[in-house]
Amino acid sequence: MNYAKRTHHLVSEGAYQVLAKAQELEAQGRNIIHLEIGQPDFETFPNISQAGINAIQNGYTRYTPPAGMKSLREVISREAGKQRGMEFAPDQVVVSPGAKPNLFFPTMALVEKGDEVIYPNPGFPTYEAMIRIAGGIPVPVPLLENNQFSFDLKAFDKLLSDRTKLIILNSPSNPTGGIIPKDDLEHIAQAAVDNNYWVLSDEIYTRILYDQNKAVSIASLPGMAERTIIMDGFSKTYAMTGWRLGFGIMPPGLAEKVGLLLTHSVGSTAQFTQFAGIEALTGPQDQVDQVVAEYKIRRDLIVAGLNQMPGVSCQKPQGAFYVFPNVISLRGNSQEIADWILEEAGVALLPGTAFGKFGEGYLRLSYANSLPNIQLALDQIGELLNQ
Ligand code: PLP
Repeated sequence: MNYAKRTHHLVSEGAYQVLAKAQELEAQGRNIIHLEIGQPDFETFPNISQAGINAIQNGYTRYTPPAGMKSLREVISREAGKQRGMEFAPDQVVVSPGAKPNLFFPTMALVEKGDEVIYPNPGFPTYEAMIRIAGGIPVPVPLLENNQFSFDLKAFDKLLSDRTKLIILNSPSNPTGGIIPKDDLEHIAQAAVDNNYWVLSDEIYTRILYDQNKAVSIASLPGMAERTIIMDGFSKTYAMTGWRLGFGIMPPGLAEKVGLLLTHSVGSTAQFTQFAGIEALTGPQDQVDQVVAEYKIRRDLIVAGLNQMPGVSCQKPQGAFYVFPNVISLRGNSQEIADWILEEAGVALLPGTAFGKFGEGYLRLSYANSLPNIQLALDQIGELLNQ
């Protein structure tokens, strides 16, 4: 078949592939513990669900303006600004069905054929896919364990060129849980200001931080507000993955272009979902804090458990709900080790290479699962490795 070239490189996300393998084993009667999917295991908070239900019952089931309802854009500009110590205007906010369109469409609006885009590797697989679809050239910057998985700034400096158009950052990071310290952000911001680069800052895990860590938004640094797209959303913070609700905050001119791309693709985000979003941001926030406190207990359990296993070492991640243990001294590559653990220990997890070539030698485990399940997974993997 003559499919367009832009589809040739597309592959699924590793998490979906492993989930399919795990489900095959479950169909054969095996019990599998799922640590592969990056999705909160608790329900959407009841006040948020109720707001969505009320909206449907009140007939809010219509189209909205493509960039989102004015009331939601106002609430987002206020709350997202407060959180970052910045001020945003509602016309800088673009609401989207999930956060992903606010990665995809700003990239489509900025990147020309042949432009280079710097992005983290290991990193969220959508970055490379969307760079290629836009006709750009993906330029991966390694995230190194000995640098607590921040950007390798030496490599970053070397990879900049006169074709660089856009720099993608993700802090806290999927898959490593690392955050980019303020000093490193200042270095990146200086390069962006000096050379007129855009920055796309994926801040979807910015509320999931531990041990008094702070994730600074690069948008708040001098000269950066006019060249940064902040991407954030409701999926992880409010356990709303299936509602599909996210947003971008960017200069108004770019917001207009992204709004047009939404107009001619998805049309708009579901109206009742947007009402649920208003409740999420304006309702009680202590529920988020409680969930983060629970994730922290799980993080400490899984990090301690992994570090007791022969051939495994694991840093304590500073945010998000993933660990990225080093398994370089185990036999086989990451893919083989992940397959072996799934088949022999019944634990579904991802090879680091599901996030790019610099993920070789690592695994990613999501601890968005219950403490008993995490403990069982640790027991089963530990038993396998100790054999
Ligand atoms: N960015 C990162 C780093 C993610 O991990 C995810 C989801 O896994 C997204 C963006 C997409 O979020 P959403 O489900 O709201 O589209």
